[in-house]
Amino acid sequence: MPVSLKIEVLGCHGGEMAGFFTPSLLIDKRVLLDAGSFGATLGLEQQLKIDHVLVSHAHCDHVKDLACFADLVIGRRRKPVMIHASPGAMEVIRGDFFNNRMWPDFFSLQSPDHPVLEDVVFTPDKPFRVKNMTIRPVPVNHPVESMAFLIRGPNGSFVYTGDTGPTDLLWKRVNRLQNLKLVMIETKFPNDMQMVADAAGHLTPKTLTKELQKIRDRDVPISLYHLKPDRINDIIREIKALKDSRISIMKIGDKFVV
Ligand SMILES: [Zn+2]
Ligand SMILES: [Zn+2]
Repeated sequence: MPVSLKIEVLGCHGGEMAGFFTPSLLIDKRVLLDAGSFGATLGLEQQLKIDHVLVSHAHCDHVKDLACFADLVIGRRRKPVMIHASPGAMEVIRGDFFNNRMWPDFFSLQSPDHPVLEDVVFTPDKPFRVKNMTIRPVPVNHPVESMAFLIRGPNGSFVYTGDTGPTDLLWKRVNRLQNLKLVMIETKFPNDMQMVADAAGHLTPKTLTKELQKIRDRDVPISLYHLKPDRINDIIREIKALKDSRISIMKIGDKFVV
């Protein structure tokens, strides 16, 4: 019997305030999907188990906790932590973040006989393997180079859109997936901020509706995340008005089995 992927939600919001954390999902305890906010949730032993980090894009709310994570695990692991990112995102992570000014270059610092972090640059739209998963990064519509991830485990596939405005390529790829179990879609802004959402490459409940129509599988569960915390009640009200029984709102502590 193939093993399912177990996904835990550590952070899933489009901003932070008490009780709300930026995106970070843990797959099978070993693989982190975005590094927004996980440091305050995972204990030392749990953080030491993380072997891979998949970065959708280099915006702060998706990479910021890599800083204290690298500083915490230095000298405590036998192997470097693999940081998987697209060419454009890796350039920002290395050049603007771990650049010995903003933060030490943990890609060079030894721990003690190997670097703490290792950069693994993937090619957009080309699948790669991590543990028992095949991951296809698909470019999406955001102001910086940004990927959705199509993740196939031994028992089924799920989709994580990263940050995106309306897009076609992603859904074209999603519609080819076998055994699709779950689609996680960002919805950052309420409808009254449509102009900001369009300019910033994000969705509102209004534009989400059009994206959902592009998914061929009409029964797959939809989990919404990256909601702006200070407007979350308005966004949820607008989502409920859609009366779409597939949709749920992702919460911290949610667990998914795929
Ligand atoms: Zn972003
Ligand atoms: Zn974001």
